[in-house]
Amino acid sequence: MTRPIQIDRKELIIAIDGPSGVGKSTVSKRIAERLGLTYVDTGAMYRAVALAVAGAKVDIENSAALEEFCNSMLVEYTSGSISVNATDYTDSIRTEEASKLASVTSSKEPVRRALVMYQRSLAVQGGVVMEGRDIGTVVLPRIHHKFFLTASHEVRAERRRAEHDSKGGTEPVGSSVGAKDISENMKERDRLDSTRAESPLARAVDALEIDTAELDIDGVVGVILADIEQKVEKSRIK
Ligand code: C5P
Repeated sequence: MTRPIQIDRKELIIAIDGPSGVGKSTVSKRIAERLGLTYVDTGAMYRAVALAVAGAKVDIENSAALEEFCNSMLVEYTSGSISVNATDYTDSIRTEEASKLASVTSSKEPVRRALVMYQRSLAVQGGVVMEGRDIGTVVLPRIHHKFFLTASHEVRAERRRAEHDSKGGTEPVGSSVGAKDISENMKERDRLDSTRAESPLARAVDALEIDTAELDIDGVVGVILADIEQKVEKSRIK
């Protein structure tokens, strides 16, 4: 059991990055709860924007059209909901279809520019745990608390399948998303996320890498809390 951290919560800004299915969301929410911070899910923003762009029939290969859409869109995130241009996407972002759309739309520069700016505006207030792919490298490169979670593809695909099954699946009636689809989709998203030109998925050099394969959620949370506490104490002594 970690000792409670004695620190002004507003001073804490924590980045948790890593590939899909690595347990970022569960871990980030738990850290936010334990430290009394706001949880910010940047993946939810990319998913919602992808659905909004598709809904508005914007051709993502037409950079001028995409730029125009992104420059004027209004994204509103709270810990429980995500909306774009006043349309609430909270209930529609967790499908395999939204995952696929998001991994393509998120590679586009105007989308990233707009969302990175919005994410920074949320972090400026302090007291946040922000999870994503590029938080430690691009969104908040100067912060002190950065973590990069990893696990093999097989471990992550199995976790995602179990999560999908436990929720009874969120796919539209008529579609069948089996274990193989989930594994293949994840592989393709990982490939797109890691190889795109704009802020690819990468570990920041100063991020602590944690292999989650051998640890349960409490184990990962424990490693993160201990590291934060150590850094906070070190900065006090200086
Ligand atoms: O984390 P989640 O799986 O919800 O993210 C959905 C997609 O959004 C990712 O596959 C990735 O393409 C994109 N994303 C991103 N940068 C982030 C968060 C998510 O490119 N910071």
